[in-house]
Amino acid sequence: MENKDFDENCIFCKIVKKQLPSNIVYEDENFLAFLDINPVNKGHTLVIPKKHKKHLLEENDETLQEYLKVVKKVAIAVKKATNAGGINVMNNIEKTAGQVIFHTHIHIIPRFENDGLKLWPGKPYEKEEEKKELETKIKENIK
Ligand code: 5GP
Ligand code: ZN
Repeated sequence: MENKDFDENCIFCKIVKKQLPSNIVYEDENFLAFLDINPVNKGHTLVIPKKHKKHLLEENDETLQEYLKVVKKVAIAVKKATNAGGINVMNNIEKTAGQVIFHTHIHIIPRFENDGLKLWPGKPYEKEEEKKELETKIKENIK
């Protein structure tokens, strides 16, 4: 791995380099998956690209293609191993969205009936125009 791909202040880079201990469940040349130290539910797993990038939006498209395949592989294994009824695949981008570790990671969270987790209550649009306005704005920003 080249130097620029490693950030010496990053916990996940240190996990990649085995400078910090972790419970690794999957590893290949470019990706690593390990148990979250503070699981939302037991079996909560993080999948990361080995090369340091701040978050998902900084990853290149080729990496993302491979990344999603690994996420799928690990999610299937987590679901089977924990006997989960379902899985949430989640990703936080930037502090405002709850990102704490600034090295791209996707959360695989096993879900169980009545586990008490509620991810979003939902806030309906008050006006149809507001919804239309956002539809237009987002469309305009698609590149
Ligand atoms: P974020 O909020 O940035 O999306 O999620 C960061 C995740 O990393 C949290 O779920 C947190 O529990 C986990 N985490 C933080 N430090 C460590 C660590 O040193 N080892 C492991 N395995 N997980 C960590
Ligand atoms: Zn890193």
